[in-house]
Amino acid sequence: MNVKYLIIGQGLAGSLLAFELLKRGDDFLLMDDAEKSASSRVALGGFTAVYGKRMVANEEMNNFISIAQETYAEIENSIQQKVFFKHHTYQSFATETEKNEFDTYSVNQSLNDIINLHPEEQAYIRNELGAYEIQISGRLDCLSLIMGITKLLKNKNKYREETFMHNQLIGNGDGGWNYKNMHFENIIFCEGYKNIDNPFFNWLPFAPSRGVVLDIKAPLLGQNKILKKGITLIPADQGMFKAGSTYEREDLSPQSDAAGRKTLEKQLSAMLNCTYEIVKQKSGIRPGTKDRNPVLGSHPDHPSMYIFNGLGSRGVILAPYFALLLCDFMQKHQEISKKYSVQRFLKDKK
Ligand SMILES: Cc1cc2nc3c(=O)[nH]c(=O)nc-3n(C[C@H](O)[C@H](O)[C@H](O)COP(=O)(O)OP(=O)(O)OC[C@H]3O[C@@H](n4cnc5c(N)ncnc54)[C@H](O)[C@@H]3O)c2cc1C
Repeated sequence: MNVKYLIIGQGLAGSLLAFELLKRGDDFLLMDDAEKSASSRVALGGFTAVYGKRMVANEEMNNFISIAQETYAEIENSIQQKVFFKHHTYQSFATETEKNEFDTYSVNQSLNDIINLHPEEQAYIRNELGAYEIQISGRLDCLSLIMGITKLLKNKNKYREETFMHNQLIGNGDGGWNYKNMHFENIIFCEGYKNIDNPFFNWLPFAPSRGVVLDIKAPLLGQNKILKKGITLIPADQGMFKAGSTYEREDLSPQSDAAGRKTLEKQLSAMLNCTYEIVKQKSGIRPGTKDRNPVLGSHPDHPSMYIFNGLGSRGVILAPYFALLLCDFMQKHQEISKKYSVQRFLKDKK
C-alpha cells in the first residue's frame, strides 16, 4: 500500500485537514483512536469575533472567520447536516473588574459593527452590572462534524480507527515512511495534547489545560443566543445547553474535575434566575502552546513529517484557516509566518 499522506488524529485539526485534502483530490489515509474525551469531542464549540479581556478584533480575525464560514458550509454540504450556527452572544458582566476592563479596552476601538452596547434584557439572566452583545459569533457542533467527516472518509476508504504507534514508524531512505506494511510519502501529526507522547515533536512547548463542561437542561431560557456571565451557555437541542468551561493548568488528571464542576455550579447559580438540571459532565484537555498560537510546519530534521496542533481554546475558528495554510505549505511551499511556524520553537529542541 503506497499513500501520499498519513494523518494521525481526527479532532478539529485532522478533520479540517482531511477535508481540505479531499477537496484537492489528494491521496491520504487518516488514523484516529476515537477517544471519547478528545478536546474536539467535548468542546463547547463557541466562537466570537472579539476575544480576550483586551477585546482583540482585527483583520486577521475577520479572515479566520470568513474562511471558517465558507469551509463549514462546504462541509455541511458534503455531510448533509447543519453543524455551524450563527448566534449573537449576550455578555453580562460577572464582576466590576470585567466591566472596567471592557470600558478600558473597548473605548479606543471601532467595534461598532461587532458590539451592541444596548442589548435587549434577557429573562432569567441575573444582570446587576450591565451587559453588551457580540453580534458576530456562533457555534460549531464539533461532535457532529467529526462524526460526519469520519463517515465521509470511511465511505472513501480513507479512515482507520487505530492507535498509531510511533515506535513502528521507520524512515525508508527515500524521504518517505514505512509503517507496518504500508508506505507513506508524508506524515502529518494532529494529535492534540497527546503530542506529549510523540517522540518527534514532544520538545515543542505545549501548555495544555483541562476543561470541564456540563450539559444542562434549562427549558425556560431562550435558545437563539449564546449567553455569558463568567460561564458560557451554548444552545443545543430541545432546551439543552452546554455550560462551561474551566481551565485547569496544573492538575491534568480526571481527579481535578470535581473542583471544576463545583466552579461551574457556582457560576451557574450566579448567572441563572430559573430552574435548570445538570444532565451530564464531560472533560477534555485543550492543546495550547506557551504563546497561545497554533503550531504548524515540518520537522526540522524530517522534511516529510509535519505537525498541525496548538489550537488551544479557539479550534473552531482557527482550524479551517490553518488546515488550508498547511496544505499550501506542503504542496506549494507557501511560507508560514514565524508567529505560527514550528521554526519559532527551534531553540527548545535539544
Ligand atoms: C472543555 C473544553 C471546551 C472547549 N470549548 C471550545 C470552544 O467553545 N470553542 C473553541 O473554538 N474551542 C474550544 N475548545 C478547544 C478545542 O476543543 C480545541 O481547540 C480543538 O478541538 C483541538 O483540536 P485538535 O484536533 O488539535 O485536538 P484533539 O481534539 O485532541 O484531537 C486529537 C485526536 O488525535 C487522536 N490521537 C492522538 N494521538 C493519537 C495516536 N497516536 N493514534 C491515533 N489517534 C491519536 C486523539 O485521540 C484525538 O482524537 C474547548 C476544549 C475543551 C477541553
